[in-house]
Amino acid sequence: MTALLDKLQETGGLERAEWLRLLNAWDTPLRDDAMARARSVTQSVYGRDIYLRGLIEISNHCKNNCYYCGIRAGNRKAVRYRLLPEDILACCAEGYALGLRTFVLQGGEDPWFTQQRVVQLVRDIKAGWPDVAVTLSLGEWPRESYAAFREAGADRYLLRHETASPTHYARLHPPALTFAQRSACLYTLKDLGYQTGAGLMVGSPGQTGDSLADDMLFLQALQPQMVGIGPFIPHRDTPFANAPAGSAEQTLYLLALVRLLLPAALLPATTALGTVAADGWERGVLAGANVIMPNLTPEGPRANYQLYNHKNATSARERDAIAGRMAAIGYTVAAGRGDHAAYLPQHATTTI
Ligand code: SAH
Repeated sequence: MTALLDKLQETGGLERAEWLRLLNAWDTPLRDDAMARARSVTQSVYGRDIYLRGLIEISNHCKNNCYYCGIRAGNRKAVRYRLLPEDILACCAEGYALGLRTFVLQGGEDPWFTQQRVVQLVRDIKAGWPDVAVTLSLGEWPRESYAAFREAGADRYLLRHETASPTHYARLHPPALTFAQRSACLYTLKDLGYQTGAGLMVGSPGQTGDSLADDMLFLQALQPQMVGIGPFIPHRDTPFANAPAGSAEQTLYLLALVRLLLPAALLPATTALGTVAADGWERGVLAGANVIMPNLTPEGPRANYQLYNHKNATSARERDAIAGRMAAIGYTVAAGRGDHAAYLPQHATTTI
């Protein structure tokens, strides 16, 4: 297996059969080897800097009905809320004062947030704080909407692909949502010049070594600038209420492999990883993550942005505590927007 890790690092990719072997064979020593390599790759590109993103959960209204998600349309028990644009701008003001220079606007697919309203919101944020990066995570839109958001100043877009196996995708989503559509959105976002984020849940119901191999090949082809990887965690009021949660261990292994595949990617130690393990963020960083997304959503609504049971959001107000946790493992919370690095892979340096 060490030879496969070598090959992945040297050539920037693997064949399907090789991914399958690597994904199916993992144990603690292999995971530790991958994590140590991933740490050193991250450090060679980004040093020991960790970037913070202020997460603003703008709405938990959603027209979709993803089987795993606590804010799915079919969950009648969800207490719905929507932040108004002025509330969102107040979150940005607070985040800016705390030193944050990226705001991530995430939400369900809420029809109240029309293209025009999102455009105005992005413009207002960019006008108020010209030195921040704006990241959107608002689901699937037609190309012209993504283009309008980009024109208004949006810099990045997070849209996890969830799984790159069409049959597995169909197990997690109703028929109206397809992997083909998700994938097309991601390629459109890249084409429009967004720093684009894909990603997946680890241990989602029906996930197999085969579907994970599809995921790795998809990331290898898409070459996203960001990848969000967190464990699946059941939500009590969804069809997957009784499914087991994904493990922190496997999440760390996949995080490390993605770092080896995409040396310059921005990889968050996710909220979900921090939920299944108290030291999830530290372990994520030690597996190659370099982004942390503390929460800026006002406390009342925040409690209702329940994607899964016991979602454990750390407030951006705890910035000093987060910096302290990173310092304790030898990392520094960096100032600035923390854009995707221009990076020439080592294996390419000799070929010109
Ligand atoms: N509507 C947006 C944002 C979705 S929420 C979109 O479609 O992109 C952000 C991410 O939370 C999802 O992409 C999914 O990967 C994750 N998520 C949702 N439910 C989850 C669960 N039960 N466990 C872990 N992660 C979950």
